Amino acid sequence: MVKVVSVSFGEVALKGKNRSYFVNKLIKHLKRVIRNFDNTNVYQDRSKIFIEAEEEDIDEIANIVKKVFGIVLISKCYKIDKDMDLLRECAVKVMEEESEKREIKTFKVDAKRGDKKFHLNSMEIERDLGGVILKNVNDISVDVHNPDIYVYVEVRDFCYVYTEKIKAYGGLPVGTNGKGILLLSGGIDSPVAGFMMSKRGIKIDCVHYHSYPFTSERAEEKVMSLAKIMAQYCGDMRIHSVNILNIQKSINENCPQSQMTIISRRFMMRIAEKIALENDHDALITGESLGQVASQTIKGLNATNASVTLPVFRPLIGMDKTDIIEIAQDIKTFETSILPYEDCCSVFSPKHPVTRPKLEAIEKSESNLNIDELIKEAIDNKTVRTIKY
Ligand code: ATP
Ligand code: MG
Repeated sequence: MVKVVSVSFGEVALKGKNRSYFVNKLIKHLKRVIRNFDNTNVYQDRSKIFIEAEEEDIDEIANIVKKVFGIVLISKCYKIDKDMDLLRECAVKVMEEESEKREIKTFKVDAKRGDKKFHLNSMEIERDLGGVILKNVNDISVDVHNPDIYVYVEVRDFCYVYTEKIKAYGGLPVGTNGKGILLLSGGIDSPVAGFMMSKRGIKIDCVHYHSYPFTSERAEEKVMSLAKIMAQYCGDMRIHSVNILNIQKSINENCPQSQMTIISRRFMMRIAEKIALENDHDALITGESLGQVASQTIKGLNATNASVTLPVFRPLIGMDKTDIIEIAQDIKTFETSILPYEDCCSVFSPKHPVTRPKLEAIEKSESNLNIDELIKEAIDNKTVRTIKY
């Protein structure tokens, strides 16, 4: 009896002609995330993907694989040949193992016969194995409605036995929906925004803005740590670090204080768009949420949007901060995000930012700036790091 991790992918998105494209991408990602384990084998058995590995690695592999987008459920199963005697032995073994971990009074066998040529149908398998468990395991009874434990049995090219369906994140395999540039700050929101769009299959690279030496190297390291956590879900990412200190100084000297934030944000968008276009990305992604701060009013967002033509995805737009934090905690970016290092936005942030900026007024202020030159200088001096999972 070998142990394997089974992977179920969302059926809906995978129907039709594109199915093999999605499945192949998923298999490629799975092979990548488990590449450091010995003696693994990833294969398809009918509608599921299975990962064979050394028994002692199975728990760790299950945890890693759970973070791959496109997967709905995973299970840790025993894999055996298609033989009723082996199945009976396995069902009893599984029950005994689970009883050692917790008290189990009732059970139900839930069988699925994927291979219609197998000589027993699902109900016959359930009845047979149920009887064997009752005979061999003490103090236990069947409860078909609300059992303490399910013993799942699947008959495919091989047979699989397991007791737990572990929920994964769903979504689509990364890279099946184009590429986007995430504006990644060190805050709570943007890592969550990147996670959410990556979950929809976008391959992400990031742009991070800093105001070194006003912002510290530690603030920069914090962003790299965030990217490292995100890479567990999003795969390898390139981080373009852009110093916007000169841009901020120039805005500070030439534009009204109250417009500082909005104009800085328009520069951030323009630079991100340029980097996106140079690298064949088709969208920008931000962690903005309506009304969260002064620059995130509808008029503020409109003024920000008007500086670029690529679509801007804002997956958090309708979410409350508490819900965003919940996701940040779940994906483990939260603790890093709340480290108290300064962000470039705080360096010149105005006391009274405009909340209803008028585009004409903003554009008029910007006419005092040499926009193209400032952007060119910032991009020419950017540094790029690849964060590998
Ligand atoms: P976050 O928690 O993501 O920092 P926030 O609530 O602090 O968001 P803002 O500071 O207004 O909001 O930023 C809005 C969005 O602009 C961010 O979610 C991010 O996408 C982008 N952004 C802000 N600061 C930076 C930065 N220093 N580098 C890259 N992108 C940034
Ligand atoms: Mg921020």
